[in-house]
Amino acid sequence: MIFLDAAATTPVRREVLEAMWPYLSGEFGNPSSHHTLGEAAAAALAEARSGVAKVFNCRPGEVTFTSGGTEADNLAVKGIALARRAADPALNRVVISAVEHPAVEESARYLERIHDFLVDVVPVDTDGLVTVDALRSLLRPETALVSIMYANNEIGTVQPIAALADAAHAAGVPFHTDAVQAAGWCPLDVKDLGVDAMSISAHKLGAPKGSGALFAKGRLRLEPLMHGGGQERGKRSGTENVAGAVALSTALTLSHAEQPEQAPRVARLRERFIARILDTVPDARLTGHRGQRLPSVASFCFPGTSGESVLLELERLGVVCSSGSACAAGSDAPSPVLVALGIAPETAQTAVRFSFTSTISDADLDAAAVAVETAVGRVRNLAAPQAG
Ligand code: PLP
Repeated sequence: MIFLDAAATTPVRREVLEAMWPYLSGEFGNPSSHHTLGEAAAAALAEARSGVAKVFNCRPGEVTFTSGGTEADNLAVKGIALARRAADPALNRVVISAVEHPAVEESARYLERIHDFLVDVVPVDTDGLVTVDALRSLLRPETALVSIMYANNEIGTVQPIAALADAAHAAGVPFHTDAVQAAGWCPLDVKDLGVDAMSISAHKLGAPKGSGALFAKGRLRLEPLMHGGGQERGKRSGTENVAGAVALSTALTLSHAEQPEQAPRVARLRERFIARILDTVPDARLTGHRGQRLPSVASFCFPGTSGESVLLELERLGVVCSSGSACAAGSDAPSPVLVALGIAPETAQTAVRFSFTSTISDADLDAAAVAVETAVGRVRNLAAPQAG
C-alpha cells in the first residue's frame, strides 16, 4: 500500500514510542502526586513542555498541553475571545478566514450562537490566500481576535502569517493561527511569526492521536474550557496525558530538526508528482497556490469523475488518499474550502487530496502517479455514456 493521506494522520514513529513508553509503564505516576512516581511524571511533563517551547522559541509556561488540535483551537478561539470580552464588553467580534478547519470555524460559530459574538469571515483568493488588505478591511475596534490558519489541510496553501499578524496587531487585536498542518513543514518560531497563539496536534507529526498543544503568549488571558483541578496553570484542568505530551514533544523536536532536509526534498517530489498528473491526466486541475503550499500536499480536481469513485479505484490499485479533509469525509456536501476558492460545487465534488509523510520515496510517488492516471481514466470511462 502507498499511503498518501498523511494530512489525515501519520503512523507513530519508533523513537516517539520509545520515548513515551516509560510513562505508560514503570513511570506511570500522576504529575500532581507528591511522591517519587509523581515527581518523575512531573519532571517528564516539564521536559516535554521545554521541548515544545524550544521549537516555538517561547517560554515553557506559554505552552499548554491539550487533547489535540481541536481542543487547542477551541481553547484559543473561545478562550481568548471570552476572556477579552469579559475585560471589555465592547469586544464582541471575531475574524476567521473562509478556509478554516471546523475546529476554528465551529468555535467561532459557537461564540456567535451562544455568546452573541459576530463572526467576520475574511475571503480567500482563487489560490486560497488571505490578503493583508482583505483582513484589514474587516478589523474593527470591537474585534476581539483574529484566527487564520497557517497551512490549509485540503489544498496545502500556506498563508503569509507574519504579515497577517502584523495587520491584526496594528489594529490592537491578538492573532491566533492553527498550525496543525504546518507543523513539521514550516518554521514555528512564534517570535518570527509574530503570533499570540498557535495550535499544533501530535498525530500529524508521527505521535499518537489525542495529544496537542497551544502556545499562548505571556499575559494573554484565556478563559478555560475545562474546569477542575487547575492543572496546566489553570488553563486546562484534568490529569495531564504525560505520555502524550512526551510523544508530542519528541515528534515535534525530531520533525523540526529534519525539516531543513526533508521539506525541500519532499517539495521536489511533490513538484514532480504534480507535473506528472497535469501531464498525464486530461483536464486535471491543481487546487491551492502553485508555490506557497505545503511540501506535503498536492490536491486536484478531476472533472468528469466523483472524488469518492477515484478514491475507491485508487485503493484497488494500492494507493490510499482522501477526497478532502478526513473530517468532511462521508459528507456529500462540496468542500467549503474549495467553494471558497470559487470552484463550482460540481467540480469541488471531484477533488482528491494526496498528502505525504516525510519518508515518502520517489518510487512510491512515481507509482502513485501512474495509478492516478489509470484510476481517473477508469472512472471517466464508466461515467461516459456507452456508444450504441
Ligand atoms: N486543524 C487542522 C488544520 C487540521 O487539519 C486538524 C486535523 O485534521 C485539526 C485542526 C484537528 O486536530 P486533531 O485531529 O488533533 O483534533
